[in-house]
Amino acid sequence: MNSTVTFNGTPRTPDSPFGPVWKPDLYKLQQEAPKPNAILCSKEFLDKPSFYGREYHGPLSHQQASALLIENGDYLVRISGQDDNPTYTLSLKFRGKIKHYRLYYDGQHYVRGKRFDSVEELVADGLVTMHIEAEAGTYIQLMCDVAKYERSPAYMTLNRFKKRTQPIQPIKPDESSDPVFYEKVHNFKIHNFKGLNWCEFCSNFLWGFTAQGVKCEDCGFSAHVKCSEKLPPDCCPELKQVRSVFGVDLTALVKVHRTLRPFVVDKCVREIEARGLFTEGIYRISGFADEMDSLRIALEKDGENADISASAYDNINVVAGILKQYFRLLPIPLLTYEIQPALIKAVQYPTLNEQILNIKEALNHLPPAHYNTLKFLMAHLAKIDEHHLVNKMSAFNLSTVFAPTLMPPSNSKMSGVIPDMSGEINTITLLIQHQKIIFE
Ligand SMILES: [Zn+2]
Ligand SMILES: [Zn+2]
Repeated sequence: MNSTVTFNGTPRTPDSPFGPVWKPDLYKLQQEAPKPNAILCSKEFLDKPSFYGREYHGPLSHQQASALLIENGDYLVRISGQDDNPTYTLSLKFRGKIKHYRLYYDGQHYVRGKRFDSVEELVADGLVTMHIEAEAGTYIQLMCDVAKYERSPAYMTLNRFKKRTQPIQPIKPDESSDPVFYEKVHNFKIHNFKGLNWCEFCSNFLWGFTAQGVKCEDCGFSAHVKCSEKLPPDCCPELKQVRSVFGVDLTALVKVHRTLRPFVVDKCVREIEARGLFTEGIYRISGFADEMDSLRIALEKDGENADISASAYDNINVVAGILKQYFRLLPIPLLTYEIQPALIKAVQYPTLNEQILNIKEALNHLPPAHYNTLKFLMAHLAKIDEHHLVNKMSAFNLSTVFAPTLMPPSNSKMSGVIPDMSGEINTITLLIQHQKIIFE
């Protein structure tokens, strides 16, 4: 595509390497946009809703509103429709043309994803959008297509940052020393930016006064909605964004702590292997709720330095319980919803060989951080199973305990009845019993 687009009638190259770092043109347009100028009504209305001010004119027809707008100002609010079902309408003049919009209120005024405390704020934001679209419509259409992300200041900073934080170093000396890179998609949510903000993908201004774009909740990357869809999976979560441990996306947690697996998993497994292999009912018997709470808080607060030794928690079931809780609270389960059907299908094949082949194929679709964590957990559960004559926890018993945590039913399957977990239990049993071949 030709990367020269016109802007205000002037050709320009948005990706020019010699251009300014951030592109201020849309910001200038926002400054030039018309400001809200209401037509105020002097009449008193007994039935006037409290969330409208003097811009409210009561019942007015389309034509009456238009006549007022030609003469006196740029917007007003009126009732259109029948008495028993009043509809509040905003009549707005922009560049001599009058348009009518239905208004909605639920404690705030809202239009699509944008929310406002007053009609004036709503109109101000609408005028900016209309002005920018009128002046730079083609530019906006093209700006994310022609943007050279590799040249954006954010990308360069991100890559410098990446060099510092990646690759992730293996956390146990006996593991391969090959560097590991985890890709992670951004976790974008619509954001109300304060002050002036620029899109870190295309370097253009994020215009408007509210919901101007999206921000990644894990790394803070800001972008236009359209630009955010073009970003590669290069999210580098930051500690100041990802503050907690439990309930955080697994890949986000390992990237922010720069570990191969969630540190909680390594820490708990080490402790359980040191003093829980022979504990009868390990993982089945739960710890006391107050001790579990205290351990979870310690892990949230002190991270990798939290004290989980016997002197702090002499009941090993508390540590085992917290590990299960960690997996249960993952927003995306360790065995993701995407691969669960393939796993359950895999264990239905007649021969063990076919079952293992199909399980391996399904596991290839796991995010790498999930895969590495699963491999480590299954090796650990196999060790528990080796001592099942003493601890009474065979691979099958462990699966019964872990299936609802590692393979929880998705919401659509939850209908109040207890779901049949036999497929999930068979899957985990097989994973424990054949972990060496499956993860070789
Ligand atoms: Zn991100
Ligand atoms: Zn952008």
